[in-house]
Amino acid sequence: MNFSKTLSVLIFSVLFSFNSYAQGFIDGNYKEEKSETKAVSFTQYKVEDIAEYTGKNTKAKNIILLIGDGMGSSHVFAAIAANNGKSYFQKFNNTGFSKTQSASSFVTDSGAGGTAIATGHSVKNGVISVDENNAPLKTILEIAEDNNKATGVVATSTVTHATPASFVAHNKNRKNYEEIASDFLTSGIDLFIGSGKSHFDDRKDKQNLIKELENKGYEIVLDKNNISKIKGDKVAGLLFDESIGRYKKRGEILVPATIKAIEVLNKNNNGFFLMIEGSQIDWASHENNVDDMITEVAEFDRAVGEALKFAEKDGNTLVIVTADHETGGFIINDGSIEKGTIKGSFNTTHHTGTMVPVFAYGPGAESFNGVYKNTKIFYKMLDAFEFDVNVAKKDNEEVIVKF
Ligand code: MG
Ligand code: ZN
Repeated sequence: MNFSKTLSVLIFSVLFSFNSYAQGFIDGNYKEEKSETKAVSFTQYKVEDIAEYTGKNTKAKNIILLIGDGMGSSHVFAAIAANNGKSYFQKFNNTGFSKTQSASSFVTDSGAGGTAIATGHSVKNGVISVDENNAPLKTILEIAEDNNKATGVVATSTVTHATPASFVAHNKNRKNYEEIASDFLTSGIDLFIGSGKSHFDDRKDKQNLIKELENKGYEIVLDKNNISKIKGDKVAGLLFDESIGRYKKRGEILVPATIKAIEVLNKNNNGFFLMIEGSQIDWASHENNVDDMITEVAEFDRAVGEALKFAEKDGNTLVIVTADHETGGFIINDGSIEKGTIKGSFNTTHHTGTMVPVFAYGPGAESFNGVYKNTKIFYKMLDAFEFDVNVAKKDNEEVIVKF
């Protein structure tokens, strides 16, 4: 290696380590390597006991699917360590890994990642539950609707963002937020809570979809403090115009929204399908912000706890926890369970191609053990509901839409 090449490698390495080595140390006081001390937003929380599911039934009346956007195994363990080794993630006896590659890319985006789980089809990055001809691919939420189940999505992003959109909408471009918002009105969905009000009432076409939702009998909730006061059985929760804000700013929303969503949807005697997303685990990871990432995972874990508490009592509810992909190439360099500290570092500001964990509890949970493509999660949910659609594709490992 000649001198100039050696020098450029050296410069590159130094730049690279400055750019991507965001390190955090959490011990009640967050200290970034760059020296400034920030107030830590993470506070330890109580984790209640959850009895093991002992029922023999493999059919689920209800499914609660929780997606931590960008949440890899290290994200999960960082939150476990920060909470002194306690978490709801550890209440699952059935675990697997999901391979997240999309039809167009080794590294998926959240559109293709959400579509795979929602429809059982690998599609190209950037699309929302459509095939190569932009024809809609039926989602698990729509199939649940067809089977007279109540349906809902909850997210800590706009409801029109890729992950919730994949379950409710169909679009060739995940950024067509106003078109995606329109799909909520025709979807038959019973409850949605997130942000993105402006995509419904500040639109290029001047339509006021909030009025239309009201006419269709939805209870409109625009204030996060009113989540617990929701009375209706059809709910449109649009808590902010655009972004919902990071945990430090917004406070606890996912947990009260999860509790309320379960309460509302459980009024239906035929059961329900509910997707809950911890949306900003991904965003904090893109920013390589360890403190925010752990705080987002911790809130998501508490939402998982609410799902498990309901499932434990109900006995007919399958709870699945997974991610659409990993973000940031997060690794844990050191830490202490006793002190609740973690030293972690990110390797990239992008998504990565690694497998992500799958946790399952309740009737049908055993089928989530193993290593499989993300599309399989859709078919496993169909099996658990005992819905008989697309059976011909069931044994096909690669249901890839060709583009
Ligand atoms: Mg998302
Ligand atoms: Zn992302």
